Amino acid sequence: MSLFSLGQIAGLIGFLCLALLIFSGDTARYFDRFFGMDKIIKFQRKFSLFTALFVLAHPVFFMLSGLEILPLLIPNFLLLPSALGAMALYIFMAVMIASALYKRISYAAWQYIHVLTYALFFFSLYHAVNLGSDSGYWQIKAAYFILLMAVAGGAVYRTHYKLKQRRAGKFYVVSVKQDNQEVFTITLKPEKKFNFKAGQFCFLRLKQDRLYARHPFTIASSPEENELRFVVKIQGKFTRALKNLQPGDEVIVDGPFGVFTVKDRAKDLVFIAGGVGIAPFISMLKDELTREKNRNIVLLYGIKTPADIICKQELESIKNSWFKKAYILSNHDLVSAECENGRVNQEVIKKYVRNINKPLFYICGPKSMKKNLVKILAQLGVGRRNIISEDFFW
Ligand SMILES: Cc1cc2nc3c(=O)[nH]c(=O)nc-3n(C[C@H](O)[C@H](O)[C@H](O)COP(=O)(O)OP(=O)(O)OC[C@H]3O[C@@H](n4cnc5c(N)ncnc54)[C@H](O)[C@@H]3O)c2cc1C
Repeated sequence: MSLFSLGQIAGLIGFLCLALLIFSGDTARYFDRFFGMDKIIKFQRKFSLFTALFVLAHPVFFMLSGLEILPLLIPNFLLLPSALGAMALYIFMAVMIASALYKRISYAAWQYIHVLTYALFFFSLYHAVNLGSDSGYWQIKAAYFILLMAVAGGAVYRTHYKLKQRRAGKFYVVSVKQDNQEVFTITLKPEKKFNFKAGQFCFLRLKQDRLYARHPFTIASSPEENELRFVVKIQGKFTRALKNLQPGDEVIVDGPFGVFTVKDRAKDLVFIAGGVGIAPFISMLKDELTREKNRNIVLLYGIKTPADIICKQELESIKNSWFKKAYILSNHDLVSAECENGRVNQEVIKKYVRNINKPLFYICGPKSMKKNLVKILAQLGVGRRNIISEDFFW
């Protein structure tokens, strides 16, 4: 195959990938219910690099084939198809750079650059239809039409979602309470009923330019409560700003999202939490309390010292026989009925979980903890399908 043909194929694949990237971004909120927002966002990050390979290979192969394309890289609008191709390439590069610098540029600038992806798509489409040597085939024309419809459909869905979200009402701070040195609980009151499943998360934003970028936080209150509660570990700029909010301040809430929820109502459950990863389990436990028929739930909660136990009051208030818990303290020697020293390891799991093959295991905690536990559970013979985890790190 000639270098010229490789350039053509790279252009075609790059365009297909670009359309899929735009479509998956616009419809992420819809497909969240099937795949989970985390998987979609991770897919997009990797897929954008894959797309970049083909988009950049398109002119490079042409250049290597001896085609004089350097003059075409300066857009000449008398030759519209090639000028729009060059413009599309520059916009693509600008979007990629803006995504890499996401946190360092203002959110408004990032949003404006992202809106340009639609221009990028239409410029590329015009370029492909008018210059692409394969655009004479009806199959290729049909494929371009389907991609156009998909991107247009995605944009309509996104706009509709944004308008619906505006009508969903506002959220105001009720209180911000310090749990320990690093963690606080923020309670929000929605203007209208906010429906979610225990274990889901929301994106929070603040109405200040540098804090308008979305940050994910898991809801720690139960779906039956009228308020939304989040337990937050102070990390950087956004979490510090949340901590300094006052009652009555507005927080923008987008959600709920995520598939870290209990789907099988019959199976026993083992919750393994690390630090602030307790948040989804508090919501799930409170939700379980509202049910008539309960299954057995074991909570293994890894923290450094007893002072780090978050939502202790809520955990201690659950006295039901179906619930057992153990605090696993990594930095403290405490001998008591519900405490273990060290980490959540094989011995601890075997001690608290009688029949290892029966329950579903839910894990939420730091990256290293999750990695270790997946390995430990596999060694204990737990099937991968019975291990469900949530990442607080994307
Ligand atoms: C699904 C999910 C649920 C989460 N739930 C909670 C929770 O209940 N309580 C809690 O304390 N934390 C939770 N987090 C983590 C929380 O989103 C980050 O700690 C927070 O965004 C940090 O922002 P920052 O500006 O304060 O800190 P920074 O110093 O900017 O970031 C610290 C780290 O947080 C992560 N992070 C930063 N910004 C984002 C972002 N916009 N999107 C995703 N990750 C980001 C990165 O790994 C980064 O290294 C959750 C994360 C995810 C993905």
